Amino acid sequence: MKLKAIAAIAFAMVTSPAWAQNYPSKPITLLVPFAAGGATDTVARVTAVTMSKLLGQTIIIENATGAGGTIAAARAARADPDGYTLLIHHIGISTAATLYRNLSYDTKTAFAPIGLVTNAPMTIIARPDLPPNSLAELISYIKANGDKMTFGNAGLGAASQLCGMLFMTAVDKQILAVPYKGNGPVMNDLIAGQIDLTCDQTTNTTGPIAAKLVKSYAITTKTRLSSMPDLPTADEAGLKGFEVAAWHGIYAPKGTPDDIIQKLSKTLQAALRDPDLVKRFNDINTDPVSQNDATPAALKATLLSEVDRWAPIIRATNQFAD
Ligand code: ASP
Repeated sequence: MKLKAIAAIAFAMVTSPAWAQNYPSKPITLLVPFAAGGATDTVARVTAVTMSKLLGQTIIIENATGAGGTIAAARAARADPDGYTLLIHHIGISTAATLYRNLSYDTKTAFAPIGLVTNAPMTIIARPDLPPNSLAELISYIKANGDKMTFGNAGLGAASQLCGMLFMTAVDKQILAVPYKGNGPVMNDLIAGQIDLTCDQTTNTTGPIAAKLVKSYAITTKTRLSSMPDLPTADEAGLKGFEVAAWHGIYAPKGTPDDIIQKLSKTLQAALRDPDLVKRFNDINTDPVSQNDATPAALKATLLSEVDRWAPIIRATNQFAD
């Protein structure tokens, strides 16, 4: 009888909608699938600082790098669904679903989405001393020298790899891909002239482009950015219809109590209205999403549709990983 009563109380504690009242009572770990200093790391850190303040609890950033972001995703998928292990990931979580044949998690069902965070265009950039001075010149240069060139990316399944794959298809020339653990280290090597090219979010490239530490050829949006008026769109500079952007979202493991998910989503929505956060993101041409998009439903819909959108495009390239 006594045991039954204890079990009933324990059950009520686990299932009660008041479960989130004491949450979070200890630090939360936010897994970042790419190295420090890159776009995902920046989005994670800027967002986590504001969410921490609102939650009154520390959010610890852990860069769990490797395998194009799938190592962090796999860890998040098998973490305890208690709200203390979260994952931030970008568009790559949807492309990896097709690129990797043996993922230990089902991308469409392994996570409890919390909300979209940001959206950022990408830029095609090169080491500062690469000879071409325009996208048209770059394309001719690649056609003549592509066999000797290198394209840095954050691994198979990263946004930079997706952009590079679309770019190489568009220029009809393969360039040797050099995988890194994130675009933070890619940028360091590009600036130092160790690799020739990359394509990365403005989150990471706005500063180096402005400081002329790298050569920039095109932005991957439909229209030019007002903050970079001299940078043509890929479409207008010669790659018709070339458009790609990277969205970020935050996830918990499937099975996390819904009131915790709601609390985190509401906190994310409040964080994205914070003027300091908005300014920090504006300065790096990264758009915080609308309040409607910082929701579980919007991230779920985006994830499902993006997995389906990229699957046939990736299958057509016939590049897979195990
Ligand atoms: N933005 C990078 C990419 O997807 C990864 C990173 O955030 O470091 O290529």
